[in-house]
Amino acid sequence: MIAEVVSVGTELLLGQIVDTNAVFIAQTLSSLGVDIFYRTTVGDNPDRMRATLRQALSRADVVITVGGLGPTMDDLTKEISAEVLGVELVVDPEIEERLRGFAARRGIKLPPSFLKQALVPAASGRPLPNPNGTAPGMLAENNGKTIICLPGPPNELIPMVEQSVIPYLAEKAGGSRTVIKSRVLRIIGIGESLAEDAVKDLMASSNPTVAPYAKLGECHLRITARAHDDDSALALIAPVEKEIRRRLGTAVYGINDETLEQVIVQELAARKQYVSLAESCTGGLIAQRITAIAGASAVLRTGIVAYANSTKEKLLRVPAQILLEYGAVSSQTAAAMAEGVKALDNSDYSIAVTGIAGPDGGSEEKPVGLVFIAVAGPHGTTVVKNNFLGRRADIQRRSAHAALALLREAIITAN
Ligand code: AMP
Ligand code: MG
Repeated sequence: MIAEVVSVGTELLLGQIVDTNAVFIAQTLSSLGVDIFYRTTVGDNPDRMRATLRQALSRADVVITVGGLGPTMDDLTKEISAEVLGVELVVDPEIEERLRGFAARRGIKLPPSFLKQALVPAASGRPLPNPNGTAPGMLAENNGKTIICLPGPPNELIPMVEQSVIPYLAEKAGGSRTVIKSRVLRIIGIGESLAEDAVKDLMASSNPTVAPYAKLGECHLRITARAHDDDSALALIAPVEKEIRRRLGTAVYGINDETLEQVIVQELAARKQYVSLAESCTGGLIAQRITAIAGASAVLRTGIVAYANSTKEKLLRVPAQILLEYGAVSSQTAAAMAEGVKALDNSDYSIAVTGIAGPDGGSEEKPVGLVFIAVAGPHGTTVVKNNFLGRRADIQRRSAHAALALLREAIITAN
C-alpha cells in the first residue's frame, strides 16, 4: 500500500512552524509497513490544493492531509478533498448539534463557517472523532482510493491517528502486512566518515539497511529491517547491531532516544558516584541537560556558572596567578576550575568548560570557538582543547556535548 502525506498551510511554507505532524505520520506509516514515496506541502490556496491532491491521488492508494479543517475561511481541506475524490458532503446532524452546544456553553454567536465542521461524506466514509477539538477528521473512499483529513494541532492529530487511522490502515494492509523496524546506535568520539568507513560493507545490505546520520557532535547509525512481524524484524537487526558494536566498541554510547546525559546519570548512579560542574561559556547548559534527567539528584552535587574571573577565583579557588599568566580561556584555568569545583563538595568527578563563544572577544591567539574542557576524576584531570565552528549558540551546544562525552569516557574507563 502506498500513502502520500499532504501538509496544508501557508504558515508551513513561510517557515513559521515546523511540520512535526508529517514527521509523526511518516514514522507511524513506516512502522505499519506502508510506503511513502512523496510528501508535499501546499498553502491555503484552493487551486494549488486541488492540483496537489489530484496528483497525490494519481500515485497513491491513501492520501493523508494535515491541517485546514478548522472553521475559518482558509480552512478548505475537507471540501477540496471531497471534490477531488468525487464524494458529496452532507451535514451530520449529530455533529451540528454538538457544535451548537459547544458555542452555546461559551456564549459564542456562531459564525456561518463554523458549521462546516459538521460536513461528512454522504456515503463511503465517516467523520473521525476528535477528543481534543471541535473539528472532526474525515475518512472518505471512492474508486479504490482513500483520503484521510486530519486536523493541524498535534494534540488533536496524534490521538486521531492512534484511534482511527492506524486501525484502518492496519486492516486495509491486511495479510500483505509488513512492518519496518529501526534501531539507532548513537556514536560519539569518532566522526561520521570514520563511522561510515568502519561499517561500509554492512551498508551494502538491503535488509536490514544501515545508514549513517551526522548529528551535532555525534553520529547515528540507523539499522532498519523489513519483515512480517516485529520479532522477525528484530531478529534481522540483532546480528548487524552486534557486529557494529564489535567494531566500534565503546564509541557506541546508546540506542534510539537515549541521550548522553541519560547514560551518564545511569552510569554514575550505578557506581554511587557524584559529579559537579563549573561552567563558563556554556552558561549552565550542562547542568540543564543533567537536571533534565529524572534521578539526577542521585548524581549531581553542584553546578556553578563561573563567568567572571573573580568568581572563578573566589568560588572555585582558581589561583589568581593562573588567571593572570594564562588567562581565563586556557588549559590551566579549565583544569583549576574542574579541580576547584570537585574539591568544593568532594565529588568523584567534575567538568569545567571555559572558552570563547563569540561573536566578539576572539583574537589571533585565542579565536572564537576556542574552548577548553576539563574533566577531573579519581585518576586525575584531563583537559581537551577544542576549536568549534559556528555561531554563539552552536559553540555553546557543541561545548556542552563534548564535555558530557568527555565525562562519560572518564567514567567508563575509570572502572
Ligand atoms: P489548521 O488546522 O491548518 O488551522 O492548523 C491549526 C494549527 O495546527 C496551526 O496553527 C499550527 O499550530 C498547527 N499545525 C498545523 N499544521 C501543522 C503541521 N503540519 N505540523 C505541526 N503543527 C501544525
Ligand atoms: Mg491552517
